[in-house]
Amino acid sequence: SDRLKGKRAFVTAAAAGIGRASAIAFVREGAEVFATDIDEAGLASLAKEGIGEAAKLDVRDSDAVAAIAKQVGAVDILLNAAGFVHHGTVLDCSDADWDFSFDLNVKSMHRTIRAFLPGMLEKGGGSIVNISSAAGVFKAAPNRYVYGATKAAVAALTRAIAADFITRGIRCNAICPGTIETPSMLGRAAAAGPQGREMFVARQPMGRLGTAEEIAALAVYLASDESAFTTGVAHIIDGGWTL
Ligand code: NAD
Repeated sequence: SDRLKGKRAFVTAAAAGIGRASAIAFVREGAEVFATDIDEAGLASLAKEGIGEAAKLDVRDSDAVAAIAKQVGAVDILLNAAGFVHHGTVLDCSDADWDFSFDLNVKSMHRTIRAFLPGMLEKGGGSIVNISSAAGVFKAAPNRYVYGATKAAVAALTRAIAADFITRGIRCNAICPGTIETPSMLGRAAAAGPQGREMFVARQPMGRLGTAEEIAALAVYLASDESAFTTGVAHIIDGGWTL
């Protein structure tokens, strides 16, 4: 329970799903966690999980990201979890849809990494963990046109950061989850109809969805010094979806 002892972590989209489970897992492993999200009620409910510091942050707002990084100071761990799943093909994706998805899923990480990397470099090291997806990186999922493109971009920016700062103590890895039971995933299932959840389960060879805690376990490993020899990798964790 002290795998992250002495480390300070900054987490985006920490109010729900994978970001939330990761923030809680980080605290349980001894890290000091600063949690952010646009959902203030969700953030407030993190206090009972032992997360003392939380603030509203829209990762689409460059000035707000720069300001909070100044306020928080240097961190050892940056977990970028914010992301949106656009449903549809190229024909369903307007220019505005494209721009929104890239802004929230990709440019958000550009913003937070630019803001927090200097502090990590001053400290002499740090671990950046970006939530990508199996869709787009390992597999083309139907109706995940712009989503897949954003997540492939996340894998590419992850490798670029890893390569550029490998000699300066910085590691940067991506996590590529398959279908994980989170509030937004259940919303997508419900939108697909009454059999929606079963449809998502049916495409899983394991016969079940993943849990946010299972993704958080990988995030802890990548955030910790246990993974010191690992950088620039898109780590798939998909319950055999791509087998
Ligand atoms: P979720 O989608 O249920 O919750 C996302 C959280 O992001 C919410 O708390 C929401 O308030 C917050 N958020 C939304 N817009 C924001 C913004 N502009 N600024 C800050 N926070 C914002 O959680 P999830 O399904 O765990 O998704 C988290 C990440 O995991 C996403 O990047 C998603 O693409 C990725 N992912 C999820 C799955 C899955 O099946 N659930 C699979 C692969 C990848």
